[in-house]
Amino acid sequence: MSPDSRPRALDAYIRVSRVGGRAGESYITKRQQRDAIERWCGLQGYEIAQWHEEEDRSGGDASRPKWNEVKRRALAGETDGVIVAKLDRFARSVIDGLKAVTELEKAGRIFVSVAEKFDTADPYGRFTATIFFALAELELGRIKGGWNDAKRRAIERGCHIGPDPAGYTSAVTEHTRKGDPIYGPLVPNEDAAAILAAFELRAEGASLARVTAHLTAAGVKTSRGSTRWSMPGAIKLLANEVYIGTIKHGEFSREDAHEPIVTRALFMAAQRKAEERARTRGPDSEGRLLSGMIWCASCRGRMTLDHQPREGGKYYTYRCRQPGCEIRTTVAATKVEQAIEQALRERLAAEEFRIETNADEGGLGALRAELETVKGELEAWLETDMRVSPEAWQKRTAVLEERVKAAQAKLDDAEVEGLAPLPSLDKYDLLPLPLKREVVAAFLKATGLGRLAVKPGRDANRFVFLPDAA
Ligand SMILES: [Zn+2]
Repeated sequence: MSPDSRPRALDAYIRVSRVGGRAGESYITKRQQRDAIERWCGLQGYEIAQWHEEEDRSGGDASRPKWNEVKRRALAGETDGVIVAKLDRFARSVIDGLKAVTELEKAGRIFVSVAEKFDTADPYGRFTATIFFALAELELGRIKGGWNDAKRRAIERGCHIGPDPAGYTSAVTEHTRKGDPIYGPLVPNEDAAAILAAFELRAEGASLARVTAHLTAAGVKTSRGSTRWSMPGAIKLLANEVYIGTIKHGEFSREDAHEPIVTRALFMAAQRKAEERARTRGPDSEGRLLSGMIWCASCRGRMTLDHQPREGGKYYTYRCRQPGCEIRTTVAATKVEQAIEQALRERLAAEEFRIETNADEGGLGALRAELETVKGELEAWLETDMRVSPEAWQKRTAVLEERVKAAQAKLDDAEVEGLAPLPSLDKYDLLPLPLKREVVAAFLKATGLGRLAVKPGRDANRFVFLPDAA
């Protein structure tokens, strides 16, 4: 631990509900809060300066004299910081909590919340806390906007949410009384033919690089209006069920919402190709988890993947090779990957971030393929004029029908599960690398923190976020 031998002293803050108060899910008793705090202090070598207990007041009374005292003592340097058992035990709202933690941190004080494992004395704990609050703020905004309700209604109406996907345009079907446009279902646009060709290429075995080049050469506009395609963009496009007429958003989905651009069979053939490649291609050919997603904090250039031979394998680094850069930072690939994955896992476990169903298409694709196969076997059997006894014919037919039923049931189950928001954590671990990369990219984007960058230094202190250029 720290070479400074003086144990750090934290004020412990406990908030308790009045007798007969709430007993909901997040309710933890005074005893539990004390135990959790004591256990953490024992493990980390903190001393408790003082215990402070605050009684919850109903009626939205915002003044919390004990909390203010705890904060004052920390900011004045009378203690080294504050420890609480759980975030919602000290903060009335996410913003409230964020403000308090920022204030303490700026003053060089420690903030610990045991349940979330936030210990800002530890760089990894601080890194996790940064991401947590960014996501929490985002979620708060969504809740306030009644985002979920709006999403559900839009999906029910058959409307796509978000920017129009490449190859589609959402048409204005009516206007509000004020004259604002109301968008209806998606309609294939002039890029639809090139998109169909992209699926055909992929189904025939073309590499992602080739599909990407095709999309760029054909002048297909991305959902953001650019005509330059990236490989992640192409992966996403090929996995997007919007092209078979399905709209999906988180737990909501609707089939036959609009005119498909590709048939289900072609879509499945392209998925099968994706799965094969994910299985057969290792990190060497497809990059690593953060390839292309990590930047040099000094020159703001993109870092590239590099490797040196090591005993029993290769040692990977992300490295800045920008000619004009004075620092040319290098970071061990596993270090930064683990830090990001840890933050992601914690958010997944806390159900604050979800893997949306698109990212799970690998598994569903395989089940659909299985269903198509057994259906094909049954049809072939029924069409063929086999010289067998009626009993044998019936028996064989029953077996094949049973297989179709079982495959359908499996697919149905998986689809239902895919619609359920959780458990996503297991899903993440099962994903092939390209899909993991997508999840991580979405996760980093969802934090709204900007581009992940690395500067020279130690531990997670090196990892910072550069605001996205406007
Ligand atoms: Zn650089």
